[in-house]
Amino acid sequence: DNPVARKPDWIRVKAPNSPEYAETKRLMRQYGLSTVCEEAACPNIGECWKLKHATFMIMGDTCTRACAFCNVKTGLPGALNPHEPGNVAEAVQKLGLHHVVVTSVDRDDLDDGGAAHFAAVITAIHGAAPGTTVEILTPDFLRKPGAIETVVAASPDVFNHNLETVPRLYPTIRPGARYFTSLQLLARVKEIDPSSFTKSGLMVGLGETRAEIGQVMDDLRAADVDFLTIGQYLQPTPKHAAVDRFWTPDEFAQLAAMARGKGFLMVSATPLTRSSYHAGDDFARLRAA
Ligand code: SF4
Ligand code: SF4
Repeated sequence: DNPVARKPDWIRVKAPNSPEYAETKRLMRQYGLSTVCEEAACPNIGECWKLKHATFMIMGDTCTRACAFCNVKTGLPGALNPHEPGNVAEAVQKLGLHHVVVTSVDRDDLDDGGAAHFAAVITAIHGAAPGTTVEILTPDFLRKPGAIETVVAASPDVFNHNLETVPRLYPTIRPGARYFTSLQLLARVKEIDPSSFTKSGLMVGLGETRAEIGQVMDDLRAADVDFLTIGQYLQPTPKHAAVDRFWTPDEFAQLAAMARGKGFLMVSATPLTRSSYHAGDDFARLRAA
């Protein structure tokens, strides 16, 4: 009997059963769209979809990488769907979203890593739903020169790229990614468009220490990153990386205080925080401030 295999009380997931959940699901199927909410088996799906808040996953459901925490399947993805930008934009408009999060699988197979497609999706949403703010959560575009510039030129409101974990754990948890490449991506976005908001996220419970997390926060602030999310890692299947431990709600509160003290504009750090969790609320609050 492995104690870390048992989820503590504070990891409570409500079964998704609202009419809004069913309606969101129907729209996604109608437009042939994937969401990270489903693909990543996110514990917040019932709550988020009830509020019609979903995270679109573009460029297919197959990833060229194989991160040890991620439930998305690995392989050689198919061709990009040229109708996808229009379909996403129409679904966003139909759902009446104030804020939308768009993410993707990694497309190391494409010359530009999918940057032009990302830009086309952002542009289509701006066109179909001008009042909707767009947050993107992108791949690292490792060895894809010009990709970041292409995406930034489409004017996303929030540019998110998750560091996911501390540098020491990259070889086992995020093989194929490089800590400093991800950090430089965030710094570069701010350099190209100083008016844009940048954001990053971490999972805890993979064996990292508090000091290592503090160092990552310092690195992010040095790259002028504005928003930070921290959540508990949950093992999607027994084949994925094991949970090292569950950080307690008090420890999350301490991490949040530490992050605020380092100057992040917006911090979300709770066990069930995911990078897209309540993203719209936080953004609206910030805009109103
Ligand atoms: Fe989807 Fe993000 Fe909500 Fe999870 S937290 S259900 S991924 S929108
Ligand atoms: Fe999952 Fe993203 Fe890693 Fe692909 S790059 S395996 S989608 S976390």
